[in-house]
Parts: sequence; structure tokens; C-alpha cells
Amino acid sequence: MTCVMAIANQKGGVGKTTTAINLGAALAAKGERVLLVDCDAQGNASSGLGVRVVDAEATLYGFLCHDVPPPLHRPVDSLPLWLLPSNPTLAAAEWELAAQSGAETVLAHKMDGLWQDFDAIILDCPPSLGLLTVNSLCAAQSVLIPLQCEYFAMEGLTLLLETIRKIKMRWNPHLRIRGIVLTMFDRRNNLCHQVAMEVRQHLGGRVFKTMIPRNVRLSECPSHGLPITVYDRNSAGARAYMALADELLETERCGG
Ligand code: ADP
Ligand code: MG
Repeated sequence: MTCVMAIANQKGGVGKTTTAINLGAALAAKGERVLLVDCDAQGNASSGLGVRVVDAEATLYGFLCHDVPPPLHRPVDSLPLWLLPSNPTLAAAEWELAAQSGAETVLAHKMDGLWQDFDAIILDCPPSLGLLTVNSLCAAQSVLIPLQCEYFAMEGLTLLLETIRKIKMRWNPHLRIRGIVLTMFDRRNNLCHQVAMEVRQHLGGRVFKTMIPRNVRLSECPSHGLPITVYDRNSAGARAYMALADELLETERCGG
């Protein structure tokens, strides 16, 4: 069965896009057919894989708002990883969708015809709880939440969990929290250890065992348009995302 997983947290800079690209690539490296959907008008998941599309119709915007067929790219020859890219015109989708009835479930309906071609679909959400994030959460079976190991890590989590609860009630009863992944963990930093401990105390079994370390290779790879597993497969970042992919595959794919 295809697993459709949104990567969401309304905070910016917590590692959503880094996780979407590199977890997607790690799953693909393990033989899964993965589709990464860039649901953020900043288009970082697209540029991070070296895909820059100028024509708005040939992006998620055209697919969502103008019924064009999904413009799929295969950015890395060696990986069964496809990308549905975005560019800044996606920002207009927020209000164009808002004008439609059933605005929250447009992506879910459009994706119906896409599922069967992939083992996993990863939706990289924008840093907000706006209509694009809501569309992603309505289209997904599960949500993975990256939390940055910093002092305010859990700030905003209550609001996100409340949003997920409302979406389950109104539109997507099957939506589950797949897990929380701690990102940018620096083992030399005592605060990181403290935050990781507190998050585990509060959220226990929902937190993945794998933590993503702060790793300079992970911050470099988007400028080369490559996922970490291709850019530097022996880096700590690549090993962590491969371990996270293992952890996902070991447990029931979309359970949680
Ligand atoms: P979000 O999508 O949540 O806004 P990003 O994935 O874009 O967050 O990450 C924000 C910034 O932090 C980017 O510059 C990214 O390269 C960097 N970054 C993310 N994760 C790591 C990490 N584990 N180690 C080092 N830099 C990271
Ligand atoms: Mg992002």
C-alpha cells in the first residue's frame, strides 16, 4: 500500500525540507518508489534537488489550480525518486483554492490518480498552518513532525496537534501521527540533550529513536542539488536519514 506522509511543523527552519528530501532519497535508496511533493511556495525541496521551474503551469500550482497533469521530474538518475516541484507562484494557490468549495481537500482528490505508481509519497509542508498545509494533511495518511533540538522546540506543538485533531474530525479520519523526529541534534551541546530528554518524557513512544545530527554536509547538499545519500553517503547526516528510513520501514509503514 502506498504511504502518503506529510512533513509538517508550522515553525520555519526546523528541518522539514531537509527531512523531506533526504528521507525521501534514503527510502528510494532502499528501493522504494518515492514521490516528493513540494507544497511550499519557497520551493526549497525543488531547488534543493536542482529543479527550478519558471513556468507556473508546470508546477504543483498548475496541477492544483488548473488541472494540468502532474509535472513529474526525476532529479537523480540513480534513484527511484520523483519530484512534483513548486515555485513562488504556489503562493497564489492559497487564495485561488480558498475561493473553491471543498478548498481543503483539493490535493487529496487530485492525488487519487497518483497513488498507485509509488510506494511512498512525501509532502513537504510550508511553515504555516494555512490552506496548503491543511490540504497536505487532508491528503496524507500520516504526519511526521520534525522538532529542532532547541529551547523552544515544543512551542507551537500544541497548536499543530490541535490542527491535526480538527482535520481528523472534519476531513481525514485516518490521519495519524507517524512520529516526531528530533533534528539538528548537537551532542556536544548540553541543551540539546536536555531538550531531547524532555521531548521524550512528554511524547514518549511517538519520538523516533533516530535523531538527525547537526551536520554541515546536510546544509551543503541543497546548493549542489543533491540529496545527502548521493552528495556524501558516508556523512553522519546520510547515516541518520538511512537509519530513519529503516525505522520507518521496520514499523508498520503508515501506522503510528
Ligand atoms: P524547514 O523546511 O523546516 O524550514 P529546512 O529543512 O529548510 O527547514 O532547514 C533550515 C536550515 O537548516 C537550512 O539551511 C538547512 O540546510 C539547515 N539544516 C536542516 N537540518 C540540518 C542539519 N541536520 N544539520 C545542519 N543543517 C541543517
Ligand atoms: Mg521548508
